[in-house]
Amino acid sequence: MEDSKKLIPSIDPGCITCGSCEFIAPEVFEVTDRSRVKNDVNYDAYADKIKEAAAKCPVNVIRLKKMDVR
Ligand code: SF4
Repeated sequence: MEDSKKLIPSIDPGCITCGSCEFIAPEVFEVTDRSRVKNDVNYDAYADKIKEAAAKCPVNVIRLKKMDVR
């Protein structure tokens, strides 16, 4: 059965712009003078990289939500 929940990453305040998330998942994260999650990305296609980036964020500010898509 297909998973009807979509993975949505976000970044809480407190990022120290270390660049780790962009290094791990450049398709999803962009770090300049601040970090951001890119729009118009099929996040589920990069779920493993996103989870790794979240796990390795040194200040633990990357959040992963599952949203229902109907
Ligand atoms: S890994 Fe965490 S601290 Fe580093 S740039 Fe990404 S969100 Fe910011």
